[in-house]
Amino acid sequence: MGVTKLPKSNNQSDKKVATIVFGCQMSERDAETLTTLSADLGYKPTEELKEADLIIINTCCVRESAENKILGKIGELKRLKENNPNLKIAVSGCMVQQPGALAKLQKRAPHVDIWTGTHNLHNFPAMLEHSHAKGKIAEVVDTPLAITELPRREKGKLRAFVNIMYGCNNFCTYCIVPHVRGRERSRPAAEIIGEIKDLVANGCREVTLLGQNVNSYGQDFTPTYDFADLLQEVDQISGLARVRFTTSHPKDLSDKLIESIAQGRHLCEHIHLPVQSGSNSILKSMNRQYTREYYLSRVAKIREIIPDVSLTTDIIVGFPGESEDDFAQSLDLVRQVQYSQAFTFLYSKRSGTLAAVMPDQVPLDVKKRRLQELMKIQTEASLKWRERMVGRIYEVLVEGPSKTNPERLTGRTRGNELVVFNGDSELVGKLIPVQMTEAGSWTLVGEVVYNGHKEQE
Ligand code: SAH
Ligand code: SF4
Repeated sequence: MGVTKLPKSNNQSDKKVATIVFGCQMSERDAETLTTLSADLGYKPTEELKEADLIIINTCCVRESAENKILGKIGELKRLKENNPNLKIAVSGCMVQQPGALAKLQKRAPHVDIWTGTHNLHNFPAMLEHSHAKGKIAEVVDTPLAITELPRREKGKLRAFVNIMYGCNNFCTYCIVPHVRGRERSRPAAEIIGEIKDLVANGCREVTLLGQNVNSYGQDFTPTYDFADLLQEVDQISGLARVRFTTSHPKDLSDKLIESIAQGRHLCEHIHLPVQSGSNSILKSMNRQYTREYYLSRVAKIREIIPDVSLTTDIIVGFPGESEDDFAQSLDLVRQVQYSQAFTFLYSKRSGTLAAVMPDQVPLDVKKRRLQELMKIQTEASLKWRERMVGRIYEVLVEGPSKTNPERLTGRTRGNELVVFNGDSELVGKLIPVQMTEAGSWTLVGEVVYNGHKEQE
């Protein structure tokens, strides 16, 4: 597979770009790339939409609720465009990439200047130049031709997302992702390692390796080289404090991988392991390719080898055909596993997926009631998980001032728990010991431990 390197330019101007991101980390990373490509054409990033000369919206289509929010946002930009006819609006990503979506979107939002999907980000500068010289442009290609090494220019960024693979081969029956991201393609390890070394040289301390199913990384390589091999190599990169990854499909979670995480010095003891449902008949109809028993046996193995591991998950309620008994099995599984956190979703019909045409779609009021029940149980489990941490000392990577209380600092434990504490801003970017003093459902409060003593307030 060919790799294209993009040239770097040093264009200077007063133009500004504002970027709005919807969706997953992959979408965030893509948006970062589009912002960087715009910066190469002289656009400086801004958070103020009103002062922007270019607004990029990178979209998500995984659920209808995301799409509705995005359509609302695109609609709001119409007024800005009326006040500033020179403003360029670009809409990119998964929502645009959906088969048959472009024509409908163009009709609904004629004020948008650039439409592009997920496969041709590298062409964004050309699209932007086209929109200036010749007017509106839409470019959505069906197949990604090559893995393009997309630029990164971040300096002093503490945490970064790094793509290790693109696409997905799993075709879970509810999911639009394989339809908008294509088939699995793994990036060569040397390229990934090179990118991480560059990030570290520019101040990065933590990377999150991204893929729709990182556990199948390298299945397209000969000779064989798998995700555990990659993790072991990344773990050796000097200066890198922490390595995270997402997402792990339970069917491909090998013992070798679990052991690598246990042995790695910088590999965080956190596994996001989406279960989706606790019922075997629903798992089958979702095409998840594992059973409840297999999933629970993986959890048991993980906990045996990495005793303090933080497990998080994704769960869908109201998948077509989900009975009260099926749902009760999801509740039971959540009680049993005791996740530190769970992302819970109402099933959303995605056109083009197999589940969208399945019989026995669950009524919205039933889905909503089930979601409430599930969230109640998970909130209790999350609180219990954090309460268990109180009194103990954890290694925290200090990220910066707390968003809710800028006088204080925040950071994360290796298990990805958010902690708020008092401390000097010089601690930002450092790994420090923090003793947990108080637990909430979403965050913990802690005190920095200096030379074995807690901070005196
Ligand atoms: N590749 C990852 C993430 C996929 S999308 C994975 O396999 O886990 C993130 C989450 O969105 C999924 O885990 C799933 O729980 C949820 N999701 C995907 N499609 C959905 C749909 N149609 N309705 C509701 N939730 C959905
Ligand atoms: Fe979607 Fe399933 Fe692929 Fe995840 S593994 S992206 S849920 S199809």
